[in-house]
Amino acid sequence: MKNLHSIMLDKEKCKGCTNCIKRCPTEAIRVRNSKARIIDQRCIDCGECIRTCPYHAKYAITDSLEEINKFQYKIALPAPSFYAQFEVDDVNKLLYALLELGFDDVFEVAKAAEIVTYFTKQFILSEKNKKPIISSACPAVVRLIQTKFPDLIENILPIASPMEVAAYIAKKKIQREKGIEEDKIGAFFISPCAAKMTYVNSPLGFERSYVDGVIAIKDVYGLVRSKLREIKDIKPLSIASGKGIGWAASGGESLALEIEEYVNVDGIHNVAKVLEEIENGRLKDIVYFEGLACSGGCVGGPLAVENPYVAKNRIKRLSSKLKDKEESLSAWTEEIINSFSLKLEDVLFEKELETNPVLELDSDIERAMEKFEKVNNILSMLPGLDCGACGSPTCKTLAEDIVRGFANDTDCIFILRENIKELANKMVELSNKLPPSLERNDE
Ligand code: SF4
Ligand code: SF4
Repeated sequence: MKNLHSIMLDKEKCKGCTNCIKRCPTEAIRVRNSKARIIDQRCIDCGECIRTCPYHAKYAITDSLEEINKFQYKIALPAPSFYAQFEVDDVNKLLYALLELGFDDVFEVAKAAEIVTYFTKQFILSEKNKKPIISSACPAVVRLIQTKFPDLIENILPIASPMEVAAYIAKKKIQREKGIEEDKIGAFFISPCAAKMTYVNSPLGFERSYVDGVIAIKDVYGLVRSKLREIKDIKPLSIASGKGIGWAASGGESLALEIEEYVNVDGIHNVAKVLEEIENGRLKDIVYFEGLACSGGCVGGPLAVENPYVAKNRIKRLSSKLKDKEESLSAWTEEIINSFSLKLEDVLFEKELETNPVLELDSDIERAMEKFEKVNNILSMLPGLDCGACGSPTCKTLAEDIVRGFANDTDCIFILRENIKELANKMVELSNKLPPSLERNDE
């Protein structure tokens, strides 16, 4: 299935309560005729509306586990946050459980995160970057920049995400070791994140994705739990280090870089505030900005199961437990990099990121100015309460919707009330009038 967006509305469940319209960071939702509507071109798949809706009317489209059967050789790519969903003494059990679900192999995305860290360090030292460098790990944040902060596109780290690097290496490895053709190998990301599904269908910085499907953690959670009970004798499978697994929580990516001049922020609205500061020329002393759309980082993704605070704590404990193994694991990372002759150029974006000018009033600057003036005129007549009762998130967005021809000023209940009041007064006035042929007291 090829959807441009993974966030959808279940019309039956939607009560038109307008809770979601205010939380959307790109003003992508309107409520009309008592139902929410997502403006596709504006949605960045941050998942904020999934978390906000009290009626569970928003959901993310992902792949079902059955999809893996379309491939001869099936590889699971568990996100680092996957480990944090379960209370287990040994993460190898979790990887075994994935094999029990029908996968032939597991490649840890945490391992690929170490490779991305390795190349990011090189990129930071190179001449050709604009500071602060903004992490590209969160696709929702990248799309937020394309939509609302186009001037910051040049700051985005142009390096493939750990998920993408994991799929690439895992497939090449199997091709090499087992001689299976690439199109017969399926790589499936086990995801806490809705935006990753959109990424796979419409990659950022690349023509194609090596990932063949995205399976929500919540969809395999129960199955993994039941398999965990059966697993007894296991051989070590996990090779990820604490640093790689640390990417699951906000700040983990920056910590792995071992630099001091970084800022890490979680939650899409907090990220937007900091991006605004960067756009305004502040934070000049910062080398790296790690912004993650979900609260707590990927552990707080809308497709995860565990409470993000509990999950974050588990990641912290797991990372420090694996600290001793760090040296030998770094050697493994270098070995992989060498055996695939990977260079920084190999993981750099193939194409430039484009802006997504959907929030502009018009592509023609003169017409945009005219529309801007109209918006301001309408706005001056609106009450400025940003109540959302009109179905638009703020008075300003209603004014913009009116100028774009998608709404009327009477959608505002205050203007409607004024109009009704005026009409009622006029009717009273008219009802007191008598035809001139009848007796009147006006002389
Ligand atoms: S929060 Fe949005 S999607 Fe959920 S019921 Fe209210 S209007 Fe509908
Ligand atoms: S996923 Fe995010 S951007 Fe898309 S409609 Fe929901 S809140 Fe808005």
